[in-house]
Amino acid sequence: MGYNVAIDGPAGAGKSTIAKLVAKEKGYIYVDTGAMYRALAVYFLEKGIDAGDTKQIIAAAREAEVSIRYEDGVQQVYLNGGNVTSKLRTEEAGNMASMTSPIPEVRERLLELQHSLAREMDVIMDGRDIGTNILPNADVKVYLTASVETRAKRRYKELTEKGLECDYEEIAKDIQERDMRDMSRETAPLKQAEDAVLVDSSNMTISEVVDTIVKLCR
Ligand code: C5P
Repeated sequence: MGYNVAIDGPAGAGKSTIAKLVAKEKGYIYVDTGAMYRALAVYFLEKGIDAGDTKQIIAAAREAEVSIRYEDGVQQVYLNGGNVTSKLRTEEAGNMASMTSPIPEVRERLLELQHSLAREMDVIMDGRDIGTNILPNADVKVYLTASVETRAKRRYKELTEKGLECDYEEIAKDIQERDMRDMSRETAPLKQAEDAVLVDSSNMTISEVVDTIVKLCR
């Protein structure tokens, strides 16, 4: 078993930014599990399947082979052999991922991939259910959150910097809806694990958050 750090929290809390920096400082591999759900979402979108059509989503999930490679330490996500990394971070893919991730068969599809990465390497893995479900015995667990306003501003900045057109109000609404879905679903809902350390980054700088987490690690 590798050394495992689990970071869970709502959309836009800064999990990936923070996890990447902690990974760099501590020499861990950063595993982005949201990207795996997004890769399946890209497949569903490409097939034109409605998010509400559970039967078709389950059938499509079976055909979709998601794998991960690390190129220069950076996670690359492959879907049925093709690199889809650049297609993952759109609002469309995020919403489709959040609408289909409550389906147990969809989650099941990614379980072994997540377990095997944590088994084989020292990882900092982020998602929604890492500390509660995927790695219940993680060495360090963090629940990273921030206010909706802070998170919406960050997402807006992230998207506009990538040259993607977006609307702040729409993003804030999407974030709230996404949180609601992630927290209220029956299978693996987003919640703070009992033994997770709560970090609210609303009024913290990136380096303060990174330092807080680094101090928790061995
Ligand atoms: O973190 P990210 O925004 O990339 O995740 C996209 C969606 O994937 C989330 O809204 C959530 O529904 C789902 N997800 C999940 N479990 C994880 C990671 C992501 O259900 N471990």
